[in-house]
Amino acid sequence: MNNCPKRKIGIMGGTFDPIHYGHLRAADEAHAALGLSEVIFIPTGFPPHKKEHKVSSAENRYLMTLLATTDCPYFSVSRIEIDRNGASYTIDTLNDLIAMPKYTNAEFYFITGLDAVMNILTWKNTGDVLKTCKFVAVSRFGYTHERVEEELSKRLADAIIHLEIPLLAISSTELRDRIKNNRSIRFLVPPLVDNFITKNNLYKET
Ligand code: ATP
Ligand code: MG
Repeated sequence: MNNCPKRKIGIMGGTFDPIHYGHLRAADEAHAALGLSEVIFIPTGFPPHKKEHKVSSAENRYLMTLLATTDCPYFSVSRIEIDRNGASYTIDTLNDLIAMPKYTNAEFYFITGLDAVMNILTWKNTGDVLKTCKFVAVSRFGYTHERVEEELSKRLADAIIHLEIPLLAISSTELRDRIKNNRSIRFLVPPLVDNFITKNNLYKET
């Protein structure tokens, strides 16, 4: 029997279109508060929930995520979803991670903002997802922990670890709007991400 304590691994899933300091702070807060040994950023391939706008190419979102996390020793980026064909479902990703030898003794913590956790019921195989990982719901502007607790069933609410973090009212939607309107995104995203967006002329078209 393996008596080693399980390694706690954070998963930060997102479209990251583009990645910003809200994502990075959320991951860093969860890392410190829960004693995670690492946080894996997993950009979605084809996001089933984001049909309302044209999503940037998976490669550009992956590269921006890499640029944003590269100087943090406990952050990494996985291509697991962008290399898989078809829609990205959390349960498939979790099953793929569990099957990896390096994670045989791992316990997974899926980090989400309070807005994303509200959609939990629309995800594929919610019951299986809850058996496979714990959810960490971090503060997000416009949402309260109480409202999430009230709106979810007891079974779901009990599976969520609530983590209060300093609110950064940044969203990728607002960043895309700013770029379209020729407004600066400096100090809202890491400088390398800002440069990458400018160099590749991203988010300028409607
Ligand atoms: P969009 O506006 O396109 O939906 P977004 O800023 O919400 O983009 P996503 O890629 O949708 O970013 O989010 C990935 C995860 O990060 C989600 O769980 C989301 O709740 C969380 N998140 C995003 N922005 C913040 C923020 N400012 N503070 C805390 N969590 C955040
Ligand atoms: Mg979002």
